[in-house]
Amino acid sequence: MRTPPAKSREGFSVSGETLQVYFLGTAGALPTTQRNPPCILIRHGSDTLLFDCGEGAQQQMMRARCGFGVNAVFVTHWHADHFLGIFGLVQTMSFNGRTDPLRIYGPEWVCEFVSIVKTVARFNLKFPLEAVELRDGSWVRFDGYTITAFAVSHGIPALGYILEEDPRPGRFNREQAVALGVPPGPLFGRLQRGETIRIGDKEEGREVRPGQVMGPARHGRKIVYTGDTRAIHSRIMDIAQEADLLIHDATYDESEADHGAEFYHTTARQAGEAASALHARTLVLIHTSSRYPDAQAHLNDAKSAFAGPVVAPYDLDMIEVPFRD
Ligand SMILES: [Zn+2]
Ligand SMILES: [Zn+2]
Repeated sequence: MRTPPAKSREGFSVSGETLQVYFLGTAGALPTTQRNPPCILIRHGSDTLLFDCGEGAQQQMMRARCGFGVNAVFVTHWHADHFLGIFGLVQTMSFNGRTDPLRIYGPEWVCEFVSIVKTVARFNLKFPLEAVELRDGSWVRFDGYTITAFAVSHGIPALGYILEEDPRPGRFNREQAVALGVPPGPLFGRLQRGETIRIGDKEEGREVRPGQVMGPARHGRKIVYTGDTRAIHSRIMDIAQEADLLIHDATYDESEADHGAEFYHTTARQAGEAASALHARTLVLIHTSSRYPDAQAHLNDAKSAFAGPVVAPYDLDMIEVPFRD
């Protein structure tokens, strides 16, 4: 929602930005002594975004030492395990003197929800709290990346979210640049940023274009968070291909596969099948039902359907997402 800074080129991400995913809450509908309700914090460069904000999220943010400098909150749906933490978080932000607006994005009913937060905020909200309703295919632009919403199957209006970086410039061919007469130094940087440069003096000079020294554009990174959803369906197949990190509902293990369809959730094996069909790089299992003391059966189930790495994070685990190349 902001204009890019001067250093980033239109349509390209600034390479080398940090991309970290903190799992602040990994439980299903009921918290346990070990797991909080769902809350995922993503750090992209200097941006901090929350995806869902379950009860107790602000204390998890303290434990993870993430601070409260949140730029936006994306809620997947209006089951209480996904939003109760917002009340406490905005109160703390107010106490801490926040004045920047905070946008809450979510599906249908987000406006009613934000209006309720304002109504009960008798602690005197010190900053603007704004609601933005998203639908299947809605997108929100940030500096160097886009968040896109997609519809999932959860029995009520519910969205998953995709964070996708802009393509990165191709690799710089240093030898080629030198062969074209470009002296090493600041001109290299200008070519890498997509500028056409001029070398030589005014009469004898000539242009060198980025296309002469840069390889083809490379993919940015992509994170998909399904939120709560029934197993693999056509919309996610359309939109969520080739994620570097697929964070998927895995409420049940295979022994309770019947519950998955009945209660609009997914089993770990079905999450593995989705990761396989979507050609995901790494699968993350989340929203583990409180009935399971650990996630070992989930990991085994998912691995039986997906050959790539599978992670079942505990609260406060962090995954750093590298570039593919
Ligand atoms: Zn849930
Ligand atoms: Zn739900």
